[in-house]
Amino acid sequence: MKTYKAYCFDLDGTVYRGKEGIQSAVRFVHRLQEKGLEYYFITNNSSKTPSQLQQALGDIGIETDRSRIFSSAITTAKYVAQNYKEAKVYMIGSEGLETAFKEEGITISNESEVDVVVMGIDRAVDYMKLAKASMAVQNGAKLIGTNEDIKFPTELGFLPGNGSFVRLVAGVAGVEPMFIGKPSPVMLEVIQEEYGYDKEDMVMIGDNYDTDILCGVRFGCDTIHVNTGVTSTEVALEKDAIPTYCVADLDEVEL
Ligand SMILES: [Mg+2]
Repeated sequence: MKTYKAYCFDLDGTVYRGKEGIQSAVRFVHRLQEKGLEYYFITNNSSKTPSQLQQALGDIGIETDRSRIFSSAITTAKYVAQNYKEAKVYMIGSEGLETAFKEEGITISNESEVDVVVMGIDRAVDYMKLAKASMAVQNGAKLIGTNEDIKFPTELGFLPGNGSFVRLVAGVAGVEPMFIGKPSPVMLEVIQEEYGYDKEDMVMIGDNYDTDILCGVRFGCDTIHVNTGVTSTEVALEKDAIPTYCVADLDEVEL
């Protein structure tokens, strides 16, 4: 396997499971740090702030700078700041998303006429918020979802993900939403733009074929599938666009 300049990791199922670190991944990040190679963490989780994600990584033994962490919330805020300057934004989302927008200097509006409606997971979402978002989009606002995950796994079973709510609003308003999180390539595009990499110098590492690997495929860089989470190696190899490499875990990857 070749050595890349930028290693982009998914978090859940790739670097940790809940609060538990995946030791082969922790060792791999330590090896990257020793060799002075660059690495980034990209996650569709928009409910945690960069500080909380940094803390979660610290808790499993990975000390990292906040600038290496790209949540779908941070990337959504960067995207809106770049493409909709001075825009009025109506937001459904949690603390992580609100913080990200504040840091980009974007004002959240509660008015009925807005330019952009942004949706991230909001565990206190209610009918009025969804009605308001639906109306704003019908009045011409662009609908952007932090991620399109329909559901996510918990100890109790699957729970509704952000994509379920974005699809609801899009269906009512009769539009096709835009999504920032994986498998959309926007997060890798933002990293490439910010640090100036060529696509062949970047690799996307993840456990979920439908989000992580497809994100890399759509962006156009190499991918490494790890068999430590959602998709098994067997299933990943049945797909049309198979990962560049499939490994049981990151101990198999030489640097
Ligand atoms: Mg994952």
